[in-house]
Amino acid sequence: MGKHALLSASSSKRWLSCTPSARLEEQFKDEPGGSVYAEEGTAAHALAEHKLKKALKRRSKRPVSDYHCDEMEECTDGYVAFAMEQVELARQECKDPVVLIEQRLDYSAYVPEGFGTGDLLIVADHVLTVIDLKYGKGVAVDAEWNPQMMLYGLGALELFDALYDIEVIRMTIYQPRLESVSTWEISVKDLMEWVEMELKPKAVLAIKGEGEYHSGDWCRFCRAKNTCRARAEEYLRLAQMEFKQPPLLTDEEIAEVLKVADELAKWSADVYAYVSAPMIKCKKTPKKKCRFMAERRKKR
Ligand code: SF4
Repeated sequence: MGKHALLSASSSKRWLSCTPSARLEEQFKDEPGGSVYAEEGTAAHALAEHKLKKALKRRSKRPVSDYHCDEMEECTDGYVAFAMEQVELARQECKDPVVLIEQRLDYSAYVPEGFGTGDLLIVADHVLTVIDLKYGKGVAVDAEWNPQMMLYGLGALELFDALYDIEVIRMTIYQPRLESVSTWEISVKDLMEWVEMELKPKAVLAIKGEGEYHSGDWCRFCRAKNTCRARAEEYLRLAQMEFKQPPLLTDEEIAEVLKVADELAKWSADVYAYVSAPMIKCKKTPKKKCRFMAERRKKR
């Protein structure tokens, strides 16, 4: 089995919103530029795992990484302090809570071949706590109705529901570089309703590459984003704004233009990045392969 599931928890917002995207993505490799952030995140997780194990008096060897810096030390210290607070809270409610770090969570009973890794699980009577450390500093992520966290919760339920009387899943996304801590709770009953109404039907479509293409902010993490037709059509539709008759734009219309311009700028930056890649290859490959650059040169 591969390291990442096709219908992974971390990409679930995308494949639930645009079900054919998971199969479409298979034809693209990871973007080389993204790996630096991924490596930095991996280093932060390894350091956090080590510190948390030490705080729980477990054996652990400090990892070594070129990405370690004062900021990462501070962020992981803060995460461990928060995690230990949650462990203490669980101990007040239940005398033997289970604390699992970097736990593989299998939710394939609901999503074909679905699995992921939870950063921290605290399993106690009544409440199962799932905590996810996000080291990125792009956008603050909300825990409310967050499918990644709900899938982790499902995987944890698969492991512990028979042993503990779990009624509620408490999910926290801890994002130290944005000073954001988002917590949300859902009852097991409501979670299972979501599974039946939303998750299972969409997962069936996604594994087959079926359903409707639907663009949105989740496209940022899609490997097909530069050449996706549905995304291009959506942005081109946005560009065709219609205004009322008076000769001057109103403040509301200007606000609308700015919103659309921002989205268009992000999309065109993605397309330019894609077009620039063949330019590098051009030195070694026949010119006919570089039609994008040829067309750009013609226009100048
Ligand atoms: S870029 Fe967006 S619309 Fe296109 S396949 Fe990916 S998620 Fe779907």
